Amino acid sequence: MKISVNSPCPCGSSKKLKKCCKLFHNGLNASNALELMKSRYSAYVVGDSKYIMKTTHEENPDYTDDKDSWSESIKEFSKNSEFNGLVILEFIDGENEAYVTFKALITQHGNDVSFVEKSKFFKINGLWLYHSGVID
Ligand SMILES: [Zn+2]
Repeated sequence: MKISVNSPCPCGSSKKLKKCCKLFHNGLNASNALELMKSRYSAYVVGDSKYIMKTTHEENPDYTDDKDSWSESIKEFSKNSEFNGLVILEFIDGENEAYVTFKALITQHGNDVSFVEKSKFFKINGLWLYHSGVID
């Protein structure tokens, strides 16, 4: 989806994209797993596959060294999805392991596929990474 950097950030903050998640996409490190989760959601919205790959733990089932095909599938998902909102339900912070439970409202090919996911994050060498998620 094409979205202006001056638009409200898709993560649901009241800030502009360029003053919010775009900062992380441009290289700022998320200070906690919640920021990382929101910035990954926004990256899906704008189709920033590089950021998704960079912030995925290598134990994640989607992780592959074939970055071209991985990038392609992320972009396909972005292109075929309308992102209608993100609701954070719970954030359990920790020193090196954290959990975010969220509800994502997505429409794919005209079907609403809203889901609740509990995501697990690990902090590796000072950087938060998305490890895996369990969908309710
Ligand atoms: Zn944001």
